[in-house]
Amino acid sequence: MAAYGGDASSAEARRRSKLSAGPHHRDRELAPLDKDRILSCLGTRWLGRDMRLFAQLASTNELAISLAQKGESGTVILAEVQTRGRGRLSRHWESPSGGIWMSLILRPDIPIALAYQINMAICVAVCRAISNLLGLNPGIKWPNDLLIGERKVGGILMEVQAEGERLEYAVVGVGINANIDPSAFPDDWMATSLSREGGSEVSRTALIQRTLLEIERAYENLGSMEIYDEWRRRSATIGRMVRISANSGELVGEVEDLAEDGALLLRRNDEVVRVLAGDCIHLRGMGGL
Ligand code: ADP
Repeated sequence: MAAYGGDASSAEARRRSKLSAGPHHRDRELAPLDKDRILSCLGTRWLGRDMRLFAQLASTNELAISLAQKGESGTVILAEVQTRGRGRLSRHWESPSGGIWMSLILRPDIPIALAYQINMAICVAVCRAISNLLGLNPGIKWPNDLLIGERKVGGILMEVQAEGERLEYAVVGVGINANIDPSAFPDDWMATSLSREGGSEVSRTALIQRTLLEIERAYENLGSMEIYDEWRRRSATIGRMVRISANSGELVGEVEDLAEDGALLLRRNDEVVRVLAGDCIHLRGMGGL
């Protein structure tokens, strides 16, 4: 998928004009988030007990990383709007008001080689929060997108720092298109929102509380079979024909399974290739090409 803000092709120009003209944040009278309200019924023991809420930030991950470098842990950064929200590979993540844009600072005592467990646990936890609270059933598009049906409703962006073999900290950004009009986004993003899917606006306060609670629980269960099993069960990628763009080049094949270490197992003719990281595009239909 092309990054927003890339070349000046006509498709890109159309996207840009659609985004800048988009009414998605101006026409809505949504109640702003209130930190005291979120904290008043927050069921977590440690996650988000230190919470910082901003009307606008460049990027919640960016601020969280600077705080993590100073030793903070369990802190949650929230912003109503991000002006430079980011996805993987520095892609732009559009973050208008009405969404949930938050970053968590975590310091698990694990080797860097197990950092994939954090992404896995948090993807599962956010899906649980959405399904338990709203009755919607999100799927996980490998490795970090949250879908409803075929459409993207959110994403996770983990950024880690290591010291030798040990993980020093992980900053995990959680972006959820909660009360957003997805028609303001370019069609080829295939975006949706919880309000669009559920037919009414959701309580962001309740969803933040539930998400943090599910994340704390899943985090305390890091590396468990329970999380891995649910990650596979919720996978929207297993069984699909996909195109993977990795450093080593492009691969097309059918996804046979997801391995315990987070790798995607891609069947190509008679061989199964392990893909640890890369961009994954779901192709349509049988054969998909
Ligand atoms: P990918 O989905 O290709 O793995 P990322 O997870 O890094 O990429 O997300 C960035 C991409 O997601 C952007 O290039 C854009 O296509 C799309 N996007 C940006 N903001 C949103 C949003 N709020 N909701 C859904 N999709 C978005």
